[in-house]
Amino acid sequence: MVELSTLLIHADDKNNRVTDVAPPINVTTTFRYEEQDLIPIIEREDMSFLDERPVYSREGHPNGTRLETLFSEYLGGHAVIYSSGLSAYFAAIMSFNPKRIFMSQNYHGCIAIAEMFQRNGMVKKYTLDEIEQYAEKGDIVHLESPVNPFGTSYDIEAFAKRAHAKGALLLVDGTFAPPPLQNVWDFGADIVMHSATKYFGGHSDLLGGVLVVKDKKRQELLKEDRINLGTNIANLESYLLLRSLRTFEMRIMKQSENVTKIVKYLDENKGKYGKVLRDITHSSLQKEDFVKKQLKGGYNPVFSITLNTVEQCKSFASQLKYFQHATSLGGVESLVEWRALSDPHIDQTLVRVSVGCESADDLIKDLASALQNLQDEAN
Ligand SMILES: *Cc1c(COP(=O)(O)O)cnc(C)c1O
Repeated sequence: MVELSTLLIHADDKNNRVTDVAPPINVTTTFRYEEQDLIPIIEREDMSFLDERPVYSREGHPNGTRLETLFSEYLGGHAVIYSSGLSAYFAAIMSFNPKRIFMSQNYHGCIAIAEMFQRNGMVKKYTLDEIEQYAEKGDIVHLESPVNPFGTSYDIEAFAKRAHAKGALLLVDGTFAPPPLQNVWDFGADIVMHSATKYFGGHSDLLGGVLVVKDKKRQELLKEDRINLGTNIANLESYLLLRSLRTFEMRIMKQSENVTKIVKYLDENKGKYGKVLRDITHSSLQKEDFVKKQLKGGYNPVFSITLNTVEQCKSFASQLKYFQHATSLGGVESLVEWRALSDPHIDQTLVRVSVGCESADDLIKDLASALQNLQDEAN
């Protein structure tokens, strides 16, 4: 078995078309037909010829194909790449066509998509507590673990068992802890999605999403739908994402190491900031046995804190030197977000922290000084 770090750099070597060491950026939307390819589309068995002979970039383009080769190997299944995490999720629901979706705490955009399908009478939405009562064959249980914005973990294996007992499929959004941190197939997932915008991209400069399924036929169907939904990843973004993936493992391991130190510091020093810091949530603070088993490669680099007042949340970000106040996560640069600004379903005093690749000590000093200032103000 080739190790993950080697796959990130070499899995797509087989898609080399030219002698360039770095994959060229292809900006063309249309590709010349060649004489040996003059086969009417009606005579084609499927659309897989597009991987070798691109025709139009909405259907497929060279760096999109490279990404699918790489992700299929890296994520252990049949991968389909999309223009964003949400277009990957939309494609999954469209293709698997469940009558019911079971979801509770999830990324707000995924909830909104399930609600659109519900609005159009195609799906009924239930909570994770209602699986035993309502789930039937072909339904989807949608679990996000670790979950946004808390950074805590659900017991994936337990949900897989509950879904499978009813004939339902378990879709896991693994955005918060991609391999090598966590491999969700080990715990019974049937479908995996990642927003590649976050850790895989890692530089806050591209949107992308990836869906991974277990059988090749399903991958083909998804790619055919994607042609007509117009949700393929863009040309330039596909190049940026390939470039990012080469260093992905180094980045996420550093981020994971950093978060573990930072959360430990905050947890041990909570008492010092008693007038500011109300609570900290993160997988590393969970006591259940399954958490370490699932996150066997390291903890997810996002956690959340709740502060005592909304006023403190507003001023917290402005006191930080290295954490920028912005939404999103997964980049090499650390961010905080007063989550009320973008999530309609959230505690108004929650601040999400996305830990980047800076020095953990500098990040701890930064957070400690901002908390101390707020503590002093509250006295
Ligand atoms: C960001 C995110 C998404 C959506 O991904 P986009 O690339 O922004 O469309 C879905 N799930 C989770 C957990 C996310 O963090």
